[in-house]
Amino acid sequence: METKIFQTEEIDQAAELLSRGELVAFPTETVYGLGANALLPESVQQVFAVKGRPSDNPLIVHVADFSMTKAFVESYHPFTKKIVNHFWPGPLTLIFSIKEGSLSPVVTGGLSTAAFRMPDNKKTLSLIEKTGAPLVGPSANTSGKPSPTTAMHVFHDLKGKIAGILDDGATQIGVESTVLDLSNEVPTILRPGAVTKEALEEVLSVEIPLDKHLVKESETPKAPGMKYKHYSPDTPVLMIAPDDWDKALAWARANDQKVGLLATPRIADQYSSADRFVFADQSVEAATRGLFSGLRALDEAGKTDIIFAEVFPEDHLGLAYMNRLKKAAGQNYFSEK
Ligand code: AMP
Ligand code: MG
Repeated sequence: METKIFQTEEIDQAAELLSRGELVAFPTETVYGLGANALLPESVQQVFAVKGRPSDNPLIVHVADFSMTKAFVESYHPFTKKIVNHFWPGPLTLIFSIKEGSLSPVVTGGLSTAAFRMPDNKKTLSLIEKTGAPLVGPSANTSGKPSPTTAMHVFHDLKGKIAGILDDGATQIGVESTVLDLSNEVPTILRPGAVTKEALEEVLSVEIPLDKHLVKESETPKAPGMKYKHYSPDTPVLMIAPDDWDKALAWARANDQKVGLLATPRIADQYSSADRFVFADQSVEAATRGLFSGLRALDEAGKTDIIFAEVFPEDHLGLAYMNRLKKAAGQNYFSEK
């Protein structure tokens, strides 16, 4: 199959393919999604096959506006209006209990709840409207690999396997949406993202807990998808604590390990010899935007034995950055043994 790259003026063609049941990847403000018509179970099934994604991992249903969720949702949490008014369109996925039979079990992983999001990307909102149906959209990468933040990343992983990719350049945020479970009385964060715990607490004036498995890795996850290995390049990744860079690089030299640095300019400038992907500036926003892109670039260059990645404090957006980095690194920090 030829995988066509669609530009803005070709959205109609992309929508036509989706309504016929083909797969088309779409841009969002977080990462690129692998789109399929959420109302066609056979198309949704293809998404799992193409990505190599475990079939019990539920998908996010992307809508063009809030009213599109009404056909599926059984009951809304009392906070819904406030949250939607404040954060949609945006990087916040909401989980609601759904009307029985309103969505295929292929979409929900057989759960009685489903995840919904209105992405903040005009081309994709138009794509959903033109398709005339919500779109499922897991990250448009091979399962387990770093999520795609450019159309070229999608092409690299899925060329020949999907009908097309709607191109809108690099994504702004760089990691997947926050997932907030609104199907129980206490709203709970299942996955951290750019809509932060602090921002949600500010708007709702209540404490928003993180799901237990985010606090303690040994806890059984609430959603099946949370248990899988994620975001890993082929090259091993080690997280480097702020005071450990000298020791880590000395260890690498002593052990003849070629290092790829994934770091802010301030750190990268101190160690001129290593291969590198340098974030645009010192901010956690720049690091988050560059994280997956950097892991992919260092991996593909094929010149490094190990990637050393900078860590950030685990609050605000740093919680999302560290959540993805820890998974990419298999939880491993450099330490002198
Ligand atoms: P991805 O499509 O890879 O961004 O992952 C979507 C994630 O959303 C899943 O892996 C789950 O963690 C979460 N999710 C989707 N649907 C549900 C649901 N009904 N209940 C809980 N979590 C969900
Ligand atoms: Mg994914």
